[in-house]
Amino acid sequence: MARNRSPKTRRIARKDSVAVIGLGRFGRALALELVDEDTEVLGIDEDPEVVQMMSGSLTHVVRADSTKESVLRQLAVHEFNRAVVAIGTDLEASILTASLLVSFGIQDVWAKAISEAHGRILTQLGVQHVVYPEHDMGQRVAHLVRGRMLDYIEFEDDFAMVKTTPPADIVGKRLAESTVRTRYGITVVAIKRPGQDFTYATADTVVEDHDTIIVAGRTRQTERFSELQ
Ligand code: ATP
Repeated sequence: MARNRSPKTRRIARKDSVAVIGLGRFGRALALELVDEDTEVLGIDEDPEVVQMMSGSLTHVVRADSTKESVLRQLAVHEFNRAVVAIGTDLEASILTASLLVSFGIQDVWAKAISEAHGRILTQLGVQHVVYPEHDMGQRVAHLVRGRMLDYIEFEDDFAMVKTTPPADIVGKRLAESTVRTRYGITVVAIKRPGQDFTYATADTVVEDHDTIIVAGRTRQTERFSELQ
């Protein structure tokens, strides 16, 4: 156990705070988004320039080598319930850091993998959440490129939600009359009129030409629906 923790790091070592290790492009975007949503973040990076750049933007930023157990303990990282290993290219650093976080018994460890083999090792180490940002974003953009979708999220089990424009044959009708569920196998879940916010769609919602809609359904069916003109 570390005996000389600074008061500052002690203060943010709360159960809803997140330790983000590695402040490259991925780690930075993630940490800033967490801070934006009022989550306290301890950012750790070994590069002094990166630390300098991020200081002031996160709750606390420390220059440290995350592969050293004593260093992580000194920063009270073992007291966090959530930690993210956002180191990709340096495989050794990623693996050593992840294995320390797992050995601390941190409830939720997230780690970025840059290849399938990297991801497999992280999973074998006991990392609960392995993410593949480049791979996943590549797949997502492929769906956007192929169809007329404005946005696309795929969940497990072949289920997706798509933001798109309505095809001509459902415009001007109540959703109940447009029979999109039976004809296209999708459900319109939300609708946005130009200049307004999204609202939930109901059976009585009438879709208009310049609306944006969000539909949910099987991946292929949501794609086919978004390709209709
Ligand atoms: P990105 O694509 O997110 O920019 P990357 O996948 O290229 O990053 P790396 O370059 O391996 O990932 O690391 C990201 C950050 O992690 C860098 O800012 C680097 O300084 C930091 N980092 C690497 N190894 C360590 C370590 N042992 N301890 C702390 N920080 C580290």
